[in-house]
Amino acid sequence: MLNIEKIRKDFPILNQKINGKDYVYLDNGATTQKPVQLIDAVADFYRNTNSNIHRGVHHLSNLSTKLYEGARAKVQKFINAEKESEIIFTKGTTDSINLIAFSFGEKYVSEGDEIIVSAMEHHSNLVPWQMLCERKKARLRILPFDKNGELELDKLPALINEKTKLLAVTHVSNSLGTVNPVKEIIETAHQSNVPVLIDGAQSIQHQKIDVQALDCDFFVFSGHKIYAETGIGVLYAKEKYLNEMPPYQGGGDMVDHVTLEKTTYLDAPFKFEAGTVNYVGAYGLGLAIDYINTVGIENIATHEQELLKYATEKLSVIEGLTIYGTAKHKTATISFLLKNIHHYDTGMILDKLGIAVRTGSHCTQPVMDFFEISGTVRASFAFYNTFADVDRLVEGILKVKQMFE
Ligand code: PMP
Repeated sequence: MLNIEKIRKDFPILNQKINGKDYVYLDNGATTQKPVQLIDAVADFYRNTNSNIHRGVHHLSNLSTKLYEGARAKVQKFINAEKESEIIFTKGTTDSINLIAFSFGEKYVSEGDEIIVSAMEHHSNLVPWQMLCERKKARLRILPFDKNGELELDKLPALINEKTKLLAVTHVSNSLGTVNPVKEIIETAHQSNVPVLIDGAQSIQHQKIDVQALDCDFFVFSGHKIYAETGIGVLYAKEKYLNEMPPYQGGGDMVDHVTLEKTTYLDAPFKFEAGTVNYVGAYGLGLAIDYINTVGIENIATHEQELLKYATEKLSVIEGLTIYGTAKHKTATISFLLKNIHHYDTGMILDKLGIAVRTGSHCTQPVMDFFEISGTVRASFAFYNTFADVDRLVEGILKVKQMFE
């Protein structure tokens, strides 16, 4: 059992009034709040330690480097990668996917080849593949989902053929909350030797990730969705791909030897980390992982599932409320609409009541097109949310309804 009251003290942003009301933050799918342990440690880093990594002989540069590489080791352990060198620090999920789309695309994708994505992808796991297909004259194939927001897995085998170069799919849908059966998808793809990229932007903060058990070829996520800072993210890739993929960007810190004519590169991970990287962000990500490990990812998952159950029960009985995304396996994310009330209006009124939700298409316009709606109201929970937060949401929704009736 989590001591939520104690946990909430670690997140100062939650303990304030917004619009005169106790703040209820239900926009964790967009970004998560930061524990004071991280905020203080990062401030201390700038006060006492800051120095650019990898190229210094002096004391603080060595210390900075140690903290940066220490964070890589923490990420490796957290997702159970086989090697530290399989962890590349990026700017975030979007950056990681663009890196793969470019580098993997350069190496392995030619005219007439095919990439598979699902119809529920965040634009970040769709647009880079569309761009790659345009560049290489390749074809994007789409795995559909049904009205519950579950992937139609029976249609997957027919999409895979000898031209398929990669399958990219989200672990958890950010707009519907669906937890996709990625292990099964990976097994199916691997039967035809098709590598799989998992977008973990919405799963890494909710459940234990073991990339070796999943056997995924690529796994990506963002620091800011896992209680760390913005501007830092992770690309995990199996070593065999990192060895063969060309660098995404050229510059300092990724080179072995440079002449005016030719450059040789360092091995992964450095080959993919050109320039001054966000070493403070990486350090912070390591601290966020420490925090999560202290709370326990299993405890987080259990509490969030209880919140999901409670909120789904409460919201389901509100007349005129439709939930979008009713898959069997979900994270604590609920997308909904109130009959004849625009999602934007609902969000604005909830905000006046001190409740933060997100409205719109959630960067998944094809999902909205499927349901023939322009957007939803999305309440996305984290482990620091309480049952009282759910009650406040319900009260707020009833108030919205009342105002429109
Ligand atoms: N994929 C999914 C499933 C997401 O939820 C998000 C963030 N909303 C992204 C990708 C993109 O993440 P970022 O903006 O941090 O790069």
